[in-house]
Amino acid sequence: MYTFELPSGLEIELREMTGTEEELLTNQRLIRSGDAVNRVFANCILRIGEKDEVGTTDVLDMLSGDRLFTLVRLRQVSLGDEVELAPVCPNTACRAKNRIVVNLSDLPVTSYAEERDFMFTLPASGSKVRFVHLDGHKEKRLAQMQEPNISSAMMIRILEIDGAAPSKKTLTEMSMRDRTALRSEMLRVDAGIDTNIECECESCGTRIRTKLEAEPSFLFPGVRL
Ligand SMILES: [Zn+2]
Repeated sequence: MYTFELPSGLEIELREMTGTEEELLTNQRLIRSGDAVNRVFANCILRIGEKDEVGTTDVLDMLSGDRLFTLVRLRQVSLGDEVELAPVCPNTACRAKNRIVVNLSDLPVTSYAEERDFMFTLPASGSKVRFVHLDGHKEKRLAQMQEPNISSAMMIRILEIDGAAPSKKTLTEMSMRDRTALRSEMLRVDAGIDTNIECECESCGTRIRTKLEAEPSFLFPGVRL
């Protein structure tokens, strides 16, 4: 068994993944519904804080930063700390395959503050926005959307604007200045583990940006790249 402290401060106990979890992670139906990782979590998380009967709802209740942190640690205890990535250069004239090795225990982790509910005054309109952190429930709703965009990712975190529930219209009609300010305020209070990978293409020097969890070798290192 492996014990870790989550970015939210709760303690978590994990067991390593087996073939059952590998099958869940490759199940297309579960991937589409956004449930693949949730099912893996429900299997492999043995305890969150005081709770030692961890079900799907408990897993969805977890904050997104805690969830990504858990996914990274689960990968470490199941497959080791090192991930060999093979990102392809985004420069269409190059398309070289690069090789980088990332040690997962080196990824920066930030802790959540105690606050769970935030009030922010928009600089242009003066409206007051109440918002919360992203969690598993919201991630699942985003995964099920046909075309998730910046507005939906922001709106899903907003509880109210000037005391009323937000609509799609309020968000699309909001000025760029207010949207940018709100987005950076949401980012400012976020926490978790930083899985952004940045490097330069070995052949042409183009900047390559990727997210660890988006790379196949993160969870399936045996698959030939
Ligand atoms: Zn290149």
